[in-house]
Amino acid sequence: MILERAEKALEGHKLCNHCLGRLFAKLGKGTNEERGRAIRFTLNMERSLRGLPSIEEPDECELCHNIFEEIPKLVEAMVEADKDIEFETFLVGSRFPEDIKEREKAIWEELGIKTGEPINREFNRELGKAFGRRTGKETSNNPDVVFIVEPFSESIELQINPLYVYGRYRKLVRGIPQTPLPDFEDSVASIICRAFSEAFGGKCVFKGAGREDVDVRTLCNGRPFIVEIKRPKRRKGDLKKLAGKINASGKVEVLDLRFVSAKEVEEVLTKNHRKEYLALVFVEEDVTPEEAEEVARKLTDLKIHQRTPWRVRKARADKIRVKKVHEAEARWIDEKHFELRLVTDGGLYIKELISGDNGRTRPSVTDLLGKRAWCERLDVLNILDD
Ligand SMILES: [Zn+2]
Repeated sequence: MILERAEKALEGHKLCNHCLGRLFAKLGKGTNEERGRAIRFTLNMERSLRGLPSIEEPDECELCHNIFEEIPKLVEAMVEADKDIEFETFLVGSRFPEDIKEREKAIWEELGIKTGEPINREFNRELGKAFGRRTGKETSNNPDVVFIVEPFSESIELQINPLYVYGRYRKLVRGIPQTPLPDFEDSVASIICRAFSEAFGGKCVFKGAGREDVDVRTLCNGRPFIVEIKRPKRRKGDLKKLAGKINASGKVEVLDLRFVSAKEVEEVLTKNHRKEYLALVFVEEDVTPEEAEEVARKLTDLKIHQRTPWRVRKARADKIRVKKVHEAEARWIDEKHFELRLVTDGGLYIKELISGDNGRTRPSVTDLLGKRAWCERLDVLNILDD
């Protein structure tokens, strides 16, 4: 069957050993070129038994136009294209002209071939092997870089996959926004991204797991964040050294830096963490230590119905969220002030939990106390993982 089909193919078409072998790619082991050579050799012995002339490899293959001979040249062009980029793993993709793909399909149909492999797949594999031998780099399904090669025009496009770094940040001072805002010189994002861009030589995008207001600090174990480094030139930055640079800012500290996959990024950013806060509550009328403790007792395990706060109504959908306060502890300071330490569901607005936001948050500290209260100062102490 194989020899019969091969003979028909070679009588009708001028095919190189790659293209001949590829018709039977799903059979046996080895490369298509080896397959083609073996089939041609055996076929020619048979033909000589029958007194027929050999069918040698043509000067130019009518299907691939001897494109496989261009592989060494393409490898050098790939090496040139990536010379400023640090990477360990790669993948090769190729774009073949439509008419070649159609001619291949026509031959399969004409000969009833069910064991063939498309030309671009063989080409990607052979080019990848040659590039690996030349550079010592390895192929991977989750590669650092992807080469998209147009074999006939010799154009090479280099896709550099992004790097993701996970970390947690502490914001040690009030008065800096998480992401750049007009009127603010610095932000948590710009302080962190500056150091990352320097270390990896790419454009950096900062994504926090939630955010705090400009006047709120984030302390203790810090808020999780991700930095995406787009088209990095270097992939092996020293994260410890990088953390040291950020921490020297005195405004922002980072900890637990590590490289993560795109899948982990998704998990970090969508997880709704419980949070621990420390709020300084100001009470318009006087407040006693007993009243403060009573408020904390009532808040513990309480469900809060919170309509989108007035101050963020333009940025967020207007709806009512139900969130829970899990823990509350009060510490009386003076007639006008007490501290509240709270553990709440993620997404509960604490300033409004205290003030009541003109009835938009119920119940609130103002409700529970029967006296108007405001949040005078707020810190995020901990962002709690499960
Ligand atoms: Zn060919």
